[in-house]
Amino acid sequence: MPLPAAPAYDRLVAISREAGLLGSVDGLLGWDQETMMPPGGGEHRARQLALLARLRHERLASPELGGLLADCEGRIDLTADTIEAANVRALRHDHDRAVRLPASLVEEIAATASTAQHVWAEAREASDFGRFQPWLEKTVDLCRQKAACYGWAGDGEPWDALAEDYEPGCTAAGVAEVFTPLRDRLRILLEEITAAPTRPSGRLDEIELPQAAQMAFCREIAEAIGFDFSRGRLDTSTHPFCGGSHCDDVRLTTRFHPAMVTDALSSTMHECGHGMYEQGLLYEHAGTPCGESVSLGIHESQSRLWENQVGRSWSFWQWAAPRLAPHFGSAVDGIDARAAYESANRVAPGLIRVEADEATYNMHVMIRFELERALLSGDLAVAELPETWNGMYREYLGVAVPDDRRGCLQDIHWSMAALGYFPTYTLGTLYSAQFFEAACDAIPGLAEGFAEGQFAPLLAWLREQIHRHGRRYSPRQLCERVTGRPLSAEPLMRHLEAKFRPLHGL
Ligand code: ZN
Repeated sequence: MPLPAAPAYDRLVAISREAGLLGSVDGLLGWDQETMMPPGGGEHRARQLALLARLRHERLASPELGGLLADCEGRIDLTADTIEAANVRALRHDHDRAVRLPASLVEEIAATASTAQHVWAEAREASDFGRFQPWLEKTVDLCRQKAACYGWAGDGEPWDALAEDYEPGCTAAGVAEVFTPLRDRLRILLEEITAAPTRPSGRLDEIELPQAAQMAFCREIAEAIGFDFSRGRLDTSTHPFCGGSHCDDVRLTTRFHPAMVTDALSSTMHECGHGMYEQGLLYEHAGTPCGESVSLGIHESQSRLWENQVGRSWSFWQWAAPRLAPHFGSAVDGIDARAAYESANRVAPGLIRVEADEATYNMHVMIRFELERALLSGDLAVAELPETWNGMYREYLGVAVPDDRRGCLQDIHWSMAALGYFPTYTLGTLYSAQFFEAACDAIPGLAEGFAEGQFAPLLAWLREQIHRHGRRYSPRQLCERVTGRPLSAEPLMRHLEAKFRPLHGL
């Protein structure tokens, strides 16, 4: 008769929680680095973070963990829909990946990325791709080595091995299957919009407003949609992000421009979506897989949902527009719900991904996906990147790239050796539309309720359907459980067409 699984499982959970604690310290130091740390602290901070990363990797790759996993796998039914089975499955996944990477390669990638980021920043500033090229060549080579260590399925490709870190179960072929119909439909919509008789006015975003008042406005909205300030903060940084240490200490940042208050608000609502997901994870599972987010794509689905499906909707602005005047006074005279809604929904194909609107954003991501896939498979040489990039921007978005600073040097990801990451942005956008359709089906009058400031039903539904499960289900399983269907481009296209055609008089 097999012994009860408890001692091995308890020890497994203890090691996982210790690795989780190290990760949570890393999260706090990372937040501090972007918001509070004086510039002089950088070198020492890099050493602190490197130590934490090493300690965490050691825990996950430890032979003891491997032994405990084997023990638990012999005693627990891994196909069961239980917390124990989910934790063992996920830790097996993480352990196997950790042991496949030699420590020497982990270190070389970290050291290369640290310098490459630095060189990338200088090269971008000078718009000089040649300066970054040798470092990108080295990075692509290291990423290929990393992919070879992980391995991929017989009919797969190196990209798949790297994407697994960000979106478990995701393959390039699977992404292409969803992206290709999306691209074709988006192209048609963008052609219609470009030739449209009318376009939304951007009046609200032309008004300069004091930063302190913009922050107060954003905080009011964040609190109203459900971000819990007793378990979180909102600060300012150049690039908005969601960090912190665990579900009861979530640190968001946002950004402000003199004008463009809808940019500050959409950044805030985006990060709130990430933050409310983190706050919805259960503390009882903190430090174990069931207390962690599923994937970057699912994380991004939560941010996009609050940013776009809620924050750029007509019913939201019926509620939010009257809240402008108490913060901004006579500066916003004449800005009614319609004017604010139009400002939040202007469409213009552009050069920069992070400034892109809801209708063109995914084109930027698809370009990067195709390019990194080709770089990894060897179909594209790094030296040919700028020319190929520019050609794709002409083809996909109809814009001419004037220099590499606004072209292939604009994003930090590849300098950080994060190849395989970009598609999670679009996958998240697709998930957000599909989840929101399911929420609207489940809760009658959901979207109409936003006009009355009723956001709690949506958050409660997301908590129940998605947040509280942690990594209990894979992204694919979660999507089918929540929406009854595999991921598709249809819900997003329905959402974009239903919104942007009327806004352009179509
Ligand atoms: Zn995000």
